[in-house]
Amino acid sequence: MTVFSCCHCAYELTPDLVALPAVPEASADDRDRDRRAGLAPSTVPRGHYNLAPGDGGARGPVVMHPEDAPAPRPLPGGANASGCCGPTGGEGPNRACPCGVRPATLAADCPGPYELRVGPVRSYAFDG
Ligand SMILES: [Zn+2]
Repeated sequence: MTVFSCCHCAYELTPDLVALPAVPEASADDRDRDRRAGLAPSTVPRGHYNLAPGDGGARGPVVMHPEDAPAPRPLPGGANASGCCGPTGGEGPNRACPCGVRPATLAADCPGPYELRVGPVRSYAFDG
């Protein structure tokens, strides 16, 4: 069980999450989309996370269900959040900790994926 916190203020960004050995195969079936929001199914199920590979052996971002980290808020002016139905997540961090640091990137546009990526530089993991 692992809690991810903000590097700057130690705010707990997530509850205890369980590591997955790999990212589950994404469903390409439109029937698996959220019926109201039209979002693709989350990359990672609630309560879990996966450590994405980084460059050159560095720790990559942690991929989790967006609803497992509700505290990080959109940036002022919607920065880094362009997309169709939601942010594509391709422009860099677009979610800020209550202290103002930007530890997370939400990807929630209609083509998918639907996930929250918490970066390795602005967060740390605590294994309880
Ligand atoms: Zn913070």
